[in-house]
Amino acid sequence: MENNVPKLFGSMVFHEHVMKERLPKSTYKTMCKVMQEGKRLDKDVADIVANAMKDWAVEKGVTHYTHWFQPMTGITAEKHDSFITPAGDSQVIMEFSGKELIQGEPDASSFPNGGLRATFEARGYTAWDPTSFAFIKDNTLCIPTAFYSYGGQALDKKTPLLRSMEAFNKQAMRILKVFGDTETNRVNTTVGSEQEYFLIDKAVYMKRKDLVFCGRTLFGAKPPKGQELDDHYFGAIKPRVKAFMSDLNVELWKLGILAKTEHNEVAPAQHELAPIFTTVNIACDHNQVTMEIMKKVADRNGLVCLLHEKPFEGVNGSGKHNNWSISTDKGVNLLEPGDSPVENTRFLLFLVALMKAVDEYQDMLRISVASAGNDHRLGANEAPPAIVSMFVGEDLQEVLDSIESGVEYAGKDREMMKVGVHVLPRFFKDTTDRNRTSPFAFTGNKFEFRMLGSSVSIACPNFVLNTIAAEELSQFADQLENVENFTTAVNELIRKTVRDHKRIIFNGNNYSDEWVIEAEKRGLLNLRTTVDALPHYVKEKNVNTFIKHGILTAEEVRSRYEILLENYIKVVHIEALTMLDLGKKSILPAVSAYVKDLAETICLKRQISSAINCRSEEGLAIRLSDLCADFVDKVKILEDSLETTEGITSEQAKAEHYKNAVIPAMEELRGIADSMEEEVGEKYWPFPTYAELLFSVF
Ligand code: ADP
Ligand code: MG
Repeated sequence: MENNVPKLFGSMVFHEHVMKERLPKSTYKTMCKVMQEGKRLDKDVADIVANAMKDWAVEKGVTHYTHWFQPMTGITAEKHDSFITPAGDSQVIMEFSGKELIQGEPDASSFPNGGLRATFEARGYTAWDPTSFAFIKDNTLCIPTAFYSYGGQALDKKTPLLRSMEAFNKQAMRILKVFGDTETNRVNTTVGSEQEYFLIDKAVYMKRKDLVFCGRTLFGAKPPKGQELDDHYFGAIKPRVKAFMSDLNVELWKLGILAKTEHNEVAPAQHELAPIFTTVNIACDHNQVTMEIMKKVADRNGLVCLLHEKPFEGVNGSGKHNNWSISTDKGVNLLEPGDSPVENTRFLLFLVALMKAVDEYQDMLRISVASAGNDHRLGANEAPPAIVSMFVGEDLQEVLDSIESGVEYAGKDREMMKVGVHVLPRFFKDTTDRNRTSPFAFTGNKFEFRMLGSSVSIACPNFVLNTIAAEELSQFADQLENVENFTTAVNELIRKTVRDHKRIIFNGNNYSDEWVIEAEKRGLLNLRTTVDALPHYVKEKNVNTFIKHGILTAEEVRSRYEILLENYIKVVHIEALTMLDLGKKSILPAVSAYVKDLAETICLKRQISSAINCRSEEGLAIRLSDLCADFVDKVKILEDSLETTEGITSEQAKAEHYKNAVIPAMEELRGIADSMEEEVGEKYWPFPTYAELLFSVF
């Protein structure tokens, strides 16, 4: 089967070709319009499409369908209904109506809603997103849907993303119009998200409660070998991992997911999968499915796929690079410099719009990647810092400098590109990028947003990107529509934007301490943790932008802020409880058992002869007993700090307490446990060590 990839590819997707084959011509045409323009479908057409979808699915052995949606949990949800309909005479037929395709009403009262749905109107609705294809997963027809409340408020990640696509299209089209473009009908943002993950042996995983409950290790001394030798990055892929990757590719290809490259990452047991980019909402659906399938495929290969941002201390965590660009329905990438002065001016205008957006909405970009898990990565010298800045590279920097100063570009020995009145270097893709430390890097014809954690849904970062870009483009369009001298106006606008927002550009090493100081001088935000970042969500500036472009209402923003805060609190709370459980029930008894054996050895030796040296056992027993006593003290401190949280009523204050008291108490407890692990005999330690976890797969 694997040999015939073209045949396999998309075989489980109700895509355009299947539609063309199975739908009446006029219905197919309507569907194409709906998919391109996001138009609503009327009932008659929906009935025909639903029936064709059902027939197609039933032929593939499918009996159930589900409205597949993306609630605020960050993972996907589904409720399965079968196609069976009684047909009298104890018989059934398989039916699926247009109504069932278009709308669903899952009993959704226990999804996070941040106070949006009072229980008396606890109904949630799902609505088909016809721009993303239906697909078959686990013998079930999955219909991608948006999820919202009785009052129409968004309860999911997809709804604001779809809204942001419309907003972006509207404003980008205005800009194209001022450039005299009459051909383009639609502008979309495109995304390719590179996914990092760890693979470990399932049997080893099952022995670690911290991994099972929290997705990350809460204890664990450094192994003798970590990632120091850099021998894993791009290294030969081990047979079990290779088997997993092949299996995964087949599953993803069947679902029309463009899994393209795979390789080992820097940390042992860490890998990466990159897809070919596509329209943002499809990229988002695909990434959700990819994460789910990774876990499933790992499981049937006797492995566990860890998507947590920081499963292991001391080795790199996992991120997700969000490559983002802008593309017209005519196939033009608007973030790519062109051949004519007009194209280059247009490119520069989009570029500086992004520059302004990133500068003015540093906080929103930071929030869009904020989670308890990602707090372990950002700023930890392995991922970009929590400070948002933009990288443009040397060549483009020279262009921007010369625009700002009005001095004609001196010109290196390079092909030149013409921009308005200026002659500027024509920079090539290859000469940009390769600054891996930047949170937001221009890479020739796209931006790579590198702050995302590996487990996050890419919906939020992308609806934020689309929205803030739409906002800047709308301001630009306001200034450029109906001007007398367009060329002068646009050049002046580009120059002014560069001048006003150049502080956001940083081409140096983002991991350095100097940058933290320099960024502060420039007045850039440094929102180190989720708790520091989240209050910015409800700032007037941000709320107004979301309202202006119809992305989120003030109420919806508030609810998202609350959901994120609550999630942070819950995650840290569960981690703290798991630590206490492991500490008291596993670690202390293990160390005690070892100390007891040491003590018995000492007694035995003494019985034989007082001349036998007992210094090593004695020393070890004393050291470990002291550490145990410290450990018990730290357990008490952690327990007390958890108890304190119960009396705090404000959620923000509670989250701050977790950050300022609970997490430091957890770190101290871990420090002692890890010191004990280094001293205790291997067979006494109650769970697999880092060495076993990281080098468990061959
Ligand atoms: P690298 O990051 O190693 O330079 P590439 O530039 O080939 O690798 O691409 C990395 C990711 O960026 C891939 O997932 C790719 O599909 C995506 N990508 C490439 N072009 C675009 C684009 N125009 N829009 C969005 N994503 C893109
Ligand atoms: Mg990359």
